Amino acid sequence: MHRWFKTAAVALLALALACTTSPLGRKQLKLFPDSEMNQMGLAAFDEMKTAVPVSTDAAVNAYVRCVAEAIVAQAADPTGVAGWETVVFVDETPNAFALPGGRIGVHTGMLDVAVTADQLAAVIGHEVGHVIARHGNERISTAYATSTGLQIIQALSDHPESEDTRRVMGLLGLGSQVGILLPFSRVHEREADLIGQDLMARAGFDPAASVELWRNMVAAGGAEPPEFLSTHPSSASRIDELEANLATTRPVYEQARAAGRRPNCRPPR
Ligand SMILES: [Zn+2]
Repeated sequence: MHRWFKTAAVALLALALACTTSPLGRKQLKLFPDSEMNQMGLAAFDEMKTAVPVSTDAAVNAYVRCVAEAIVAQAADPTGVAGWETVVFVDETPNAFALPGGRIGVHTGMLDVAVTADQLAAVIGHEVGHVIARHGNERISTAYATSTGLQIIQALSDHPESEDTRRVMGLLGLGSQVGILLPFSRVHEREADLIGQDLMARAGFDPAASVELWRNMVAAGGAEPPEFLSTHPSSASRIDELEANLATTRPVYEQARAAGRRPNCRPPR
């Protein structure tokens, strides 16, 4: 299973220091070729599928895929994703993730927080935003660029079952299943929010639902915040920024609806 870690280590030997620019124009450190990141993401996703039960509920799968397919159809992916795949995991915790290589995971528990198709579109749009903005690559590159990162990469080839291996999976945005929660930075969260809201609007989902989603998420928090909030930290300004951005995305949404993009995805319950 961990051939990809060795592949990554080999790739690093031929590493050329590189920078790239996020879809919102921010300069990023990008040490890994997209193809290597995509291999890592696919392998990490396979690992998740062996670790967490996959839902066989046809109605739930059809619903989540309906939303995800509408979103990814609008995603301008610069990373060479060959095709997107969405899997529903049977897990009560309200969580979701997307990985380089085009893999999307949604926990069944997320459907208790994202209670409409538009709200689920906000979740998936946000996650796809992390992927097309290469946030995983940036996080692993940053870790690699420090002395700690160097040790990680050396450990990967020799100790695929190590804590360092799980750390890389954490850097890709996976959570409690790998035992290490590594929250995205506020900068990454903001980018994913804005990209996600744009994607949902282009797909014909009401972008205002992104505001509802985060209100639901905060309300679901209470004494023990959802894991999604642990890996996707919120801030007081998040909802304000999403609301302010509606001035940009609402016309995009109206245009999409007028063009006939009206995804008909119905929650199964
Ligand atoms: Zn996020």
